[in-house]
Amino acid sequence: MARTAIIVGAGVIGVCSAYALASRGWNVTLIDRESGPAMGTSHANGAQLSYCFTDALGRPEVLGALPRFLWGQGGVTFGVSLRPDYLAWLAQFARNCSAARFRENTLAVLALAAQSRAAMESLCAHHDLQFGHRVAGKIHLLYSAKDIETAEKLRAIKHRAGCEQQLVPRADFTALDPALGGLDRDVVAAISTPSELVGDPLLFSRALLEVLIAEYGVKTHFDADVAAIGGDGGQASASLASGEQLNSDLVVVASGIDSNRLLAPLGEAAPIQPMKGYSFEMPLTPGSPALSVTDARRRLVFTNLGDRMRVAGVAELGNWTRTIDAERIAWLIDAARECLPEGGDYTEAGKFWTGLRPTSPHSQPIIRRASRTLAINTGHGALGWTLAMGSGERLADLLTE
Ligand SMILES: Cc1cc2nc3c(=O)[nH]c(=O)nc-3n(C[C@H](O)[C@H](O)[C@H](O)COP(=O)(O)OP(=O)(O)OC[C@H]3O[C@@H](n4cnc5c(N)ncnc54)[C@H](O)[C@@H]3O)c2cc1C
Repeated sequence: MARTAIIVGAGVIGVCSAYALASRGWNVTLIDRESGPAMGTSHANGAQLSYCFTDALGRPEVLGALPRFLWGQGGVTFGVSLRPDYLAWLAQFARNCSAARFRENTLAVLALAAQSRAAMESLCAHHDLQFGHRVAGKIHLLYSAKDIETAEKLRAIKHRAGCEQQLVPRADFTALDPALGGLDRDVVAAISTPSELVGDPLLFSRALLEVLIAEYGVKTHFDADVAAIGGDGGQASASLASGEQLNSDLVVVASGIDSNRLLAPLGEAAPIQPMKGYSFEMPLTPGSPALSVTDARRRLVFTNLGDRMRVAGVAELGNWTRTIDAERIAWLIDAARECLPEGGDYTEAGKFWTGLRPTSPHSQPIIRRASRTLAINTGHGALGWTLAMGSGERLADLLTE
C-alpha cells in the first residue's frame, strides 16, 4: 500500500519535496497557511540557479568583518540579541569560519547543487514547465588583486569538483555582454560561470504544483495554518488552526524560517536564524545585461528575467520582521545604481519585496529523518531555489532507505 505524507510548507522546498515523494509513489498532501505556493521566502528571491556559486557564508574574512556587520554597513547586519538560540547559532557560525570548514561546507553544498541541477534537468525533460528557465551565465565581480587571488583559489577547488569557470579581465567584459561596459569602474575582473541558470521560483512552484495535482494526485490545503504536528503509534498528524486534524504515515516540516515553531514542542530543533533580504524590479533598458551579475561587495545580484530586471540583496541576520523598510529598499536601489548605472530603469523601480532566508550556521541545509513519523527539510539560506530539487531527492532517498 502507498505510504502517505503531509508536507507543511509550499515554498520551493515543500513543492520539490512533494514532487520527489509523489514521483516515488507516496500519497502527498501539501499544506500552507498562504493562499497558494511560494508566498513566503521563495516568492521574489534573486531567481538565480547558482549551481556553482555555493560559497558558504562562514569564512575567515567574515570573523574580521564582524564589527562592521554589527554597524550594518554594506548591506550586511548581524543583529544584537541575547536570545539563547541566536547566541548558540553565532557560536556555531564562528566555528564554521575556519578555512577548512569553509571549504568543507562549500563543497558539500556544491555536491547538492549538482544533484539539484540533474534533478531539474530530468524534471524539465518530463514536464513542460514555463518559468523563464534559461542558461543566462553569471559573473561574480572582483575589485582587487586580493579578491582575484581568493577567487582563483576557490575556482581551482570547484574546478576539481566539476565546475567550469573562467577568470575574465575587465577589458574582456563587453565580449561577454555589451551591457557590462557600464559596470562600476572599480571592478577589475570577474569570475564567469557560463553554465549558470535563472528561473522564476513563483512561476515554477505554480507550474509544478499544477502537474503534481493533475498527474500525481497531490492534494493541497491552502489558507490552512498548521498549529501543531504529532506522531503517535506509527501515525503522524497535523492539527490545523481551524480544528481539523489530518493523519498520515509521515509529516515533513518544510516550513522555512518557521520550522522550529512546529518542531520545538516535539523536542526537535533546526539550527536556523532569519537572514532578511529584499528585492525590487525595474523595466529593462539597452544597458541591462542578459548575464546574471553578483556583486559580493555590495551583497546584491542582478537577474534579467526576460521582461524585467530583478535586483536582490541585503542580509540582516536575526531580523524576524516581515515589513518592508523603506530605508533598506532605498539603500538597495542606490547600491544597484552605483554598481550598474544603466542596468535598468531605476526611475521605475517597484515590486518591493522582503523575505527571511532560513539560514544555518554551516550554510548546509538540514535534511533529516527525525523519527519514524517526522522528517525535516529546511535551512537552505541564500540558496534554497538552487538546492530545492536536490533537497527533495535527498529527502525522498532518506525516506526510502
Ligand atoms: C532577497 C533574497 C534573495 C534570494 N535569492 C536567491 C537566489 O537567487 N537563488 C537561490 O537559490 N535562493 C535565493 N534565496 C533563498 C531562497 O529564497 C530560500 O532559501 C528559499 O525560498 C527557502 O524556501 P523554503 O521553501 O524553505 O521557505 P519558504 O518559501 O518561506 O516556504 C515555507 C512555507 O511554509 C509555510 N508555513 C510555515 N509555517 C507554517 C504553518 N505552521 N502552517 C502552514 N504553513 C506554514 C509558509 O507560509 C511558507 O509558504 C534568496 C532569498 C532572499 C530573501
